[in-house]
Amino acid sequence: MGKTAVYPGSFDPITNGHIDIIKRGLGIFDNLIILIGFNPNKSSLFSVEERTELIRGVIGDDKRLTVDSYSGLLIDYVKDSEACCILRGLRAMSDFEYEFQLALMNRRLDRRVETVFLMTGSKWFYCNSRIIKEAASLGGSVKGMVPDSVLKKLKVKFPTMKNNN
Ligand code: ADP
Repeated sequence: MGKTAVYPGSFDPITNGHIDIIKRGLGIFDNLIILIGFNPNKSSLFSVEERTELIRGVIGDDKRLTVDSYSGLLIDYVKDSEACCILRGLRAMSDFEYEFQLALMNRRLDRRVETVFLMTGSKWFYCNSRIIKEAASLGGSVKGMVPDSVLKKLKVKFPTMKNNN
């Protein structure tokens, strides 16, 4: 069966930074589960179904990758899926404190599950879904930060968004 890791996030929407982590994660693990974590009480730009569809479109039919969604405790999902690790990406220092707390909490909940961090590719240091949405909503171009399929969907949500940079 090989080693499986769960890569959790909100993926609202998937960005080139996420894709970089997914590709590099496949160099370490045999299989990756891209897990859309959602809170039914929190609003998001894209629905879970839209996010799933966008991720599926980007990853194609690579058998090592699956997409799933979950609103419960991450560590329960990891145990149920028989994954060994949680994969996370690290960007700026601002990510570090939150990621550190999250990793320690998950370790407290189950010591057998390790969190593995991949440092962001330098190109994707500032690539984050929230800032992308903010820029797009104000008409800014986010070309090159998200796949073209995501760019198209953002254009539907934010018609004033420019297409070039
Ligand atoms: P975001 O923070 O962009 O809204 P998520 O909550 O979906 O994204 O993040 C899921 C995981 O992917 C987190 O571990 C986050 O640090 C990582 N990640 C997101 N964007 C990048 C990036 N540009 N480079 C490296 N890791 C990233």
